[in-house]
Amino acid sequence: MDRAPGAALRYHPRTMEVRDSHDRPLRSLRVSVTDRCNLRCQYCMPEEQYVWLPRSDILHFEEIAALVDVFTGLGVDKVRLTGGEPLTRKELPKLVAMLAAKPALADLALTTNGILLAEQAAALGAAGLRRLTVSLDTLDPVRFRELSKRDDHARVLDGIDAARAAGFRGLKIDTVVMRCVNSDELPALIEFGKGKQAEVRFIEYMDVGGATTWSAETVVSRREMLELLSARYGTIEPVIETSSAPAARYRLPDGTTFGIISSTTQPFCATCDRARLTADGVFYRCLYARDGFDLRGLLRGGAPPEQIASALGSLWRARADRGAEERLALRERSALAPKGDLRNDPHLEMHTRGG
Ligand code: SAM
Ligand code: SF4
Ligand code: SF4
Repeated sequence: MDRAPGAALRYHPRTMEVRDSHDRPLRSLRVSVTDRCNLRCQYCMPEEQYVWLPRSDILHFEEIAALVDVFTGLGVDKVRLTGGEPLTRKELPKLVAMLAAKPALADLALTTNGILLAEQAAALGAAGLRRLTVSLDTLDPVRFRELSKRDDHARVLDGIDAARAAGFRGLKIDTVVMRCVNSDELPALIEFGKGKQAEVRFIEYMDVGGATTWSAETVVSRREMLELLSARYGTIEPVIETSSAPAARYRLPDGTTFGIISSTTQPFCATCDRARLTADGVFYRCLYARDGFDLRGLLRGGAPPEQIASALGSLWRARADRGAEERLALRERSALAPKGDLRNDPHLEMHTRGG
């Protein structure tokens, strides 16, 4: 299917900000460009085989760009490309260039596992990408293999170096912290980040779709992480800033900053301005939402951008999602979705929703 949505491509509306039922604006969009991945992280894709989205359903770059225009018309000014592993999507720099050329986007970022970064960092930088987050859970190659079922640790480290050589500044390194898996590496990862001029962000292990082996005992809370790090570094100060970014930032006595994303024990749903678009064009209002809304069908059915904008605006105004807060309120908590549900509906998977 190679229909170019020409009308949508010429859509440059004046921004009409929408607010949801909790008065939260729509500012940030995570765009998954593929559900496929070259790792099998324990907390995201613990199985070897998955039910993949049909290839013919995957949005073309022109379609993604057209939908991004609709989102910017509703107030989105930040886009993050993600996946699956976004760098496995062929010719990704072309999409980056298309999005980087949009004046309505103040921020265009990408999250990657870094494996293909050494090959692609220069092209991504040349295409206009300015912000890059690399996921790295361990500095130990053996542990990396245990965690991700692949032997590619050295390639990730090379990717980080290549990104710096390609001129990326302000790199971020994201680490999912799991008890008895990598929770002993927090100071080592901070020191590694210092050496690479990268800010490390520790993410609490979340019970999202895909995390089929999640248990409350494996979660290391923000409080516990701060205790661990204070024992090593001394007094840790919070960095005071007003932002809807999910990471709370902290400063060590030597000035080094790091972040903690406490989605599991101290969720930030109250200020969440983030929506998600899957690689096959399904719109989700929350990472935990059961139901999404098919924008691909509208786009490929020839709906004009105004009609898609109107549908999206209504959906956002009706948004009441506070998924992580609702999970926190549960008495008994285990993995969000059984494997059978994930197989029946791959849209529930974290690697489909883009994290
Ligand atoms: N493949 C890319 C990567 O790993 O950076 C991008 C997609 S991945 C789904 C996006 C982010 O989600 C990664 O930083 C990953 O660590 C995080 N993630 C996946 N499963 C998670 C879980 N169960 N809890 C917390 N974070 C998770
Ligand atoms: Fe790991 Fe990212 Fe792949 Fe999930 S999508 S398995 S977090 S590399
Ligand atoms: Fe936003 Fe849903 Fe995450 Fe809460 S759980 S921060 S509402 S995406």
